[in-house]
Amino acid sequence: MHAAAAREGVQLLPLSGFRSVARQTAIIRRKLAEGQALPAILRLVAAPGCSEHHTGRALDLGDVNHVGLDVDFAQTPAFRWLEKRAAQFGFRLSYPRKNRHGIGYEPWHWFWQG
Ligand SMILES: [Zn+2]
Repeated sequence: MHAAAAREGVQLLPLSGFRSVARQTAIIRRKLAEGQALPAILRLVAAPGCSEHHTGRALDLGDVNHVGLDVDFAQTPAFRWLEKRAAQFGFRLSYPRKNRHGIGYEPWHWFWQG
């Protein structure tokens, strides 16, 4: 998929892939230590054991000109390319706007379903 995007002038940037339960726990602990409330954290970060990143099939993708994991990624050429072409490579957007999981919109998070 990376090579196909590059042939069409889009540079997909892999930012995060496999993540262990321990790593997921550490991320949540860090946010708690920063003073964030757990319900707010869990709207943006899956509970340890529940993240698609534990499967090794989830990828957080950026654009060479946009490396932040934020909704502005949806304005990039990389996202527009993914919307059109990712399904052809077996990827789907896990958390579109108003998804059934109650997770916030994550235009950067793609899951390989084969
Ligand atoms: Zn992700």
